Amino acid sequence: MMTTPFSLRLAAVRELLPSREVDAVLISGPENRRYLSGFTADDPEWGVLLVTAEAALLLTDFRYQTWAQQEVRDFEVLIYKIDLGETLAELLKRLGVRRLGFEAGYLTYRQYQRLTRTAVKAGLTLAWEPLEGLVEGLRENKTGAELAVMRRALTLTETVMRQVAGELTPGLTEAEVAWEIEKRLRQGGAEGLAFPSIVAAGPNSARPHHHPGDYVIQAGEPIIIDMGARIDGYCADMTRTFIIGPPDEHFRKIYSLVRRAQARAEAGLKAGLDSLAGDQLAREVIAAGGYGEAFGHSLGHGVGLAVHEAPALSPSEARRTTLAAGAVVTVEPGIYLTGWGGVRLEDMILLHPEGAEVLNQPGYFYEWSEEGL
Ligand code: ZN
Ligand code: ZN
Repeated sequence: MMTTPFSLRLAAVRELLPSREVDAVLISGPENRRYLSGFTADDPEWGVLLVTAEAALLLTDFRYQTWAQQEVRDFEVLIYKIDLGETLAELLKRLGVRRLGFEAGYLTYRQYQRLTRTAVKAGLTLAWEPLEGLVEGLRENKTGAELAVMRRALTLTETVMRQVAGELTPGLTEAEVAWEIEKRLRQGGAEGLAFPSIVAAGPNSARPHHHPGDYVIQAGEPIIIDMGARIDGYCADMTRTFIIGPPDEHFRKIYSLVRRAQARAEAGLKAGLDSLAGDQLAREVIAAGGYGEAFGHSLGHGVGLAVHEAPALSPSEARRTTLAAGAVVTVEPGIYLTGWGGVRLEDMILLHPEGAEVLNQPGYFYEWSEEGL
């Protein structure tokens, strides 16, 4: 049998089943389904994967039949006629599955109720085991092919960021800039946006996840642009902060502090490091500058098929992890001051055992922001 990335991933997930004490797993997370099967349909409703030690099945309906059969090699494509639950129950019976793992973060309560009821009706004695992070853990370590696609997505994102930054003028609205970003990413070869672009100007830039609206951009106010292209399913995620005209002392001070925090994190992050310690690298700089309370979100997050994926680079104990080699994470410290605005700078880095490789091209649009680094 030919080895494909998907056959390797399938083997890896099978290897994990005994440790989770299940003899089969149902995969319904959109990125996880794609990662394992290679089926590129991203409609959340197309169906599920079922993996046992011997079998690998992709269960979908007529609408996706031809497409799945054309794209998927390592899973048997099974078309259910009326009800996924009935087909699945028959299959589980035939395969002798007794302990079925499912993705707790993705199977909705309603789906769970329907599937478990159908299984009972079919006379199955089945233990349903909620699992977390099974495929997400495999997705952390990017292959060379995945990295190549992500680098393309980031390069396009940077190109459009530079173009749009050069054209920022007073009088444009946030929404107009966001539309310009979307058009250019698509024209440049993106299949779509990795996430809805954030263009936040003036006081709106104090809202980390602001939705661009009809606010008119003015000179002398911070403008945060957070954007990313999606190519072949993979995301880029990058933020820069701009100002039209000469920045005042306050902006320079805040900007330099955020940039120093980012530079310290980028110099100190590496595979094998504890995620809480990683988050602290930047947080300590901002706290020492007197703005600890104004940096209210995580330092970063993994990026890949999902724009937010494992590992989290966060102060949260619940999400604590050891940073894996081959993971791509963002480094995005920010300071947000209600009434004034904010500054956020976000790069993507690749974690190696010996350190972090910044995937972004150098360039912050402000030479003075590199002073004293
Ligand atoms: Zn971002
Ligand atoms: Zn991000």
